[in-house]
Order: sequence, then structure tokens, then C-alpha cells
Amino acid sequence: MHVACLAAPFTFTWSGLVVFGGLVWLTGAIGVTLTFHRLLTHRSFSVPAWLEYVLTVIGTLAWQGGAVQWVGTHRLHHKHSDGDEDPHTPRHGFTWAHMLWCMHREAGGPVSARQAAGDLVRDPVHRWIDRLFWLPQVLLAVGLYFAGQWWSGSGWSWVVWGVAARVVFVYHGTWFVNSAAHTWGYRNYETPDGSTNLWWVGLLAFGEGWHNNHHAHQRSAAHGQRWWELDMTYWTIRALGWVGLARDICLPGRRIRRRAVRSSAPVLGAQVALTPDPQGS
Ligand SMILES: [Zn+2]
Ligand SMILES: [Zn+2]
Repeated sequence: MHVACLAAPFTFTWSGLVVFGGLVWLTGAIGVTLTFHRLLTHRSFSVPAWLEYVLTVIGTLAWQGGAVQWVGTHRLHHKHSDGDEDPHTPRHGFTWAHMLWCMHREAGGPVSARQAAGDLVRDPVHRWIDRLFWLPQVLLAVGLYFAGQWWSGSGWSWVVWGVAARVVFVYHGTWFVNSAAHTWGYRNYETPDGSTNLWWVGLLAFGEGWHNNHHAHQRSAAHGQRWWELDMTYWTIRALGWVGLARDICLPGRRIRRRAVRSSAPVLGAQVALTPDPQGS
């Protein structure tokens, strides 16, 4: 994806830039932040099952792997924050925490990400979405090419900006949460890890930069806690609540809204049974 970005300056069009921006929001804010992180990993709120599956498909478009790997890895990060079994521990350096870790098949300890996401693995629909996580991206790329050709003869511009440049932009937004928001910034809470609140990661990653708040209140749907800690993803969750699609929205120290739509919704990732993998995978 990074190599494909080399074509971006040569394929620039204004319509491609609009496609880029729209898909950054859809796949970064909705796919990764709202769905993979706050909904599937932490169950900070609940939505009807059909919507959870649609949102998960949108999450696969971020090209950060299927939901099982993503959710399991992040639960291990919370379980072992900044320790040796943290898959992207900053102890191995900033570059490791930022991006090198994900070039390793299992960067953490003896418990696999798949084990830590057992609730998703047990759901047959999630298993299928996970297995075919590459398919929506392929269909999107083909669709963008033909739509761009039809709109203004700029099919390749829409593919390069709507897939490669967009995926790389969202990659680094997500990765800065693991690297920069464990390195620079201020802390509202004395958590045992090195998590920090960092304003520019908050903007880049749609509210995820208030990462020290998140480590202190992992299940809270709201990561921004002061008035100036802008949290666009929480606003979206509240909007879903207003139209009746999001329920059981968790906040620090209190719970609002009505009962969960899905009573089988598992609890915090940190409470997942972490048993050693007998296959050692
Ligand atoms: Zn963290
Ligand atoms: Zn988290």
C-alpha cells in the first residue's frame, strides 16, 4: 500500500481527494475506531446484530486484517500494556510500537490474538466476515475504478486515492495511538502503563488520542473527558443512540441508555480468559 502511494501525486484529481476524505472517515472513524475498537473490542455500547455485521464489513476496508486478529491483539495490549507480552509494546522502541510489530505473525506472548477474541470466533457470521476480509476491498477497488471512469474519466485516481492513499493515512492514524499516545502528551490518570493524551492523535484518529483516559476507563464509549478533548467517535455513538441504533452506552462511572440489544454481548476484553495456546500458535 505504501509503494502504491508513490502513484498518488501523478493521479491526483479533486474528485479523487473527495473520495479519499469520505473513505478516511468511513473506514477510519466508523470501521476501525467505532466498530473494531469501541464496539467489538470493548463492548462500550451495543447495536442490533445486523448493524454490527455491516459495521464489521466496513472495518475490513481499513485493511488492518479481520476483526478477530484486530480485536484479539488490542485486548492483549490492554491485558499486558507496555509489558513484554504487549504485541506493540513501546519497550521495543517507537518504530516497533508504531508499525514493525504488525509485520510479525504473533508479536505478543503465548496467548494468540485469536484466543483473546474467542467471542467473535464463536459467532459464525463473524467467522465468515473474518475469513473473507479481503473481499470487500477488492470489490471497492473495482467499483471505484468504474465509478471514477463514469464520473470524470479518473478511475485510477479514485483507486489510488480511495484505496492506497486512504489505507496508508488510516494506518498511521491508528498506529500513532500505539506509538505516540504511549510516548508524548499529558496524563489525566496515573495508570500503570505509559499511555498519554495527545491532541493531534485525537484529531487524526477521531478521538482515539485521549488514550490515557481510555486506559483508565477502558469500557467507556467516551474517550474525551474534558470539554476540549474532542471525541468525534463518541458524538457518532451518541447520534446512533438518538436514532435508537446504539444502546447500553457505557460512560466512566455510570451507564446510560437501556438494556443491551444482545444480551449475549461479552464483557471487557481484559476479562477474556487468557489461557496458553496448546498449539503454540
Ligand atoms: Zn494503549
Ligand atoms: Zn482499547
